[in-house]
Amino acid sequence: MIRPITRHGGAILRQKACPVQKLTADIQKLIDDMIETMYAAPGIGLAAPQVGVGLRVFVMDVSSGRSSGDLHVMINPEMVIHEGVQSFEEGCLSVPNFQATVPRPKRAIVRGLNREGKSYEIEGTGLSARALQHELDHLDGSLFLDRLRGVKKELILRRINKLKRTGQW
Ligand SMILES: [Zn+2]
Repeated sequence: MIRPITRHGGAILRQKACPVQKLTADIQKLIDDMIETMYAAPGIGLAAPQVGVGLRVFVMDVSSGRSSGDLHVMINPEMVIHEGVQSFEEGCLSVPNFQATVPRPKRAIVRGLNREGKSYEIEGTGLSARALQHELDHLDGSLFLDRLRGVKKELILRRINKLKRTGQW
């Protein structure tokens, strides 16, 4: 089932998500729905708070479904290593139609549980490293806009506020 995506301004996006305690049927359903919602959007990553659930779960597929081995489900993830810096244009399904250049690690390793509850790691470079950190940020109540500075950030926030005022958000 495709779930509605919460946009910037939704309180859940600003809350620190809670660890998953038990892999219940509800959690498995949440994961299925998140995968479906991510592909339908389309996007390369989606965190549970973006579908209104304050749990530490994200799904990610930097190939957008083109390569089956690229789909990852991460439960209770932690950043193990992040190193280097890269800056690229980035967007977010919760901030549709806005992009900005965000500094991110060049390489990242994230450890968490898969949907069977087994511990595993994802090592990412380039786009994957960026996506990993982007999704982890969501679980801590942070959006890519928070990593911007100055005029660009103000400009985007002003345009979002205008869309909100006119009921287009
Ligand atoms: Zn996002």
